[in-house]
Amino acid sequence: MFAPNLLDLPTPSAATEPVTMTTTNSSVNSVKQIEKIAHENNKLHKRLCRQVGQAIGDFNMIEDGDKIMVCLSGGKDSYALLDILMTLRERAPINFDIIAVNLDQKQPNFPAHILPEYLTKLGVAFHIENQDTYSIVKRVIPEGKTTCSLCSRLRRGILYRVATELGATKVALGHHRDDIMETFFLNMFFGGKLKSMPPKLQSDDGKQIVIRPLAYVEEKDLTRYAEVKQFPIIPCDLCGSQENLQRKQIKGMLREWEKKHPGRVDNIFASLSTVAPSHLMDRKLFGFTDLKADGVADANGDIAFDDEPCATPTSTIPNIIPLRTMDE
Ligand code: SF4
Repeated sequence: MFAPNLLDLPTPSAATEPVTMTTTNSSVNSVKQIEKIAHENNKLHKRLCRQVGQAIGDFNMIEDGDKIMVCLSGGKDSYALLDILMTLRERAPINFDIIAVNLDQKQPNFPAHILPEYLTKLGVAFHIENQDTYSIVKRVIPEGKTTCSLCSRLRRGILYRVATELGATKVALGHHRDDIMETFFLNMFFGGKLKSMPPKLQSDDGKQIVIRPLAYVEEKDLTRYAEVKQFPIIPCDLCGSQENLQRKQIKGMLREWEKKHPGRVDNIFASLSTVAPSHLMDRKLFGFTDLKADGVADANGDIAFDDEPCATPTSTIPNIIPLRTMDE
């Protein structure tokens, strides 16, 4: 496990390279502009490294001797994941290996040369798995129906098998904070479950540990990072499938909330790490049926929302009523 305080990065060369100065106002301004952009980019890189390091540490995602299979789709998230993990590996106090894996699903016009060229230049070990899941999906799913669920199931199975064949101990996926929150609401709104994408889990086949090191990273930062790093993005609509409409709506809902109530999305995200089973309704998680009063006062009891605008002002509540019973 490695600690986030080891992740401070040196200033990138763009910020420190000497810039030729001239005496005109406009050139002074443009030098300042370049320095400002370099400074912002450096801050972004540091933030991503810090957040990924934090998630890795919090969930003990990577251990000494691990071989991490990084699933690379050609989208901005997985490029960033690989890039940041490679940076962190250089400064981690433990040893772990990285192997990048791409599944070429034989979608029409998939530019198969892009990833091998990029990965060779990067100097990272990689494997391209060729499996024509596209034809299977087209054959099995009637025209006009959503193909994503079968496609992802096939992809998952193949990637887990490849991980076993490559001797990988962990499978790293590029899902980020926005994915986690959208999935949370999708499950709640359409599945009737309080459930999201965990930062670490056991794979369906029980053979792998899957990790999501970008769990704390915001999508907008990944979008900017991809521009800064000029990742050779491969379009994700080659299969012809439409974007998931429900996920799009949830994304829009979260964006609106954040615009109207800045900080709300942060609070929602924080709530995923602060669950109180005794104050929900899942009888499998909390022993409601056997609950007995033990006579011990709880300083952290139910007082959190006593001062809600809709609640009776505390000054008007007679003292004889213990406050911690008011929101029950
Ligand atoms: S968008 Fe296309 S490639 Fe992606 S999961 Fe759906 S069907 Fe598969």
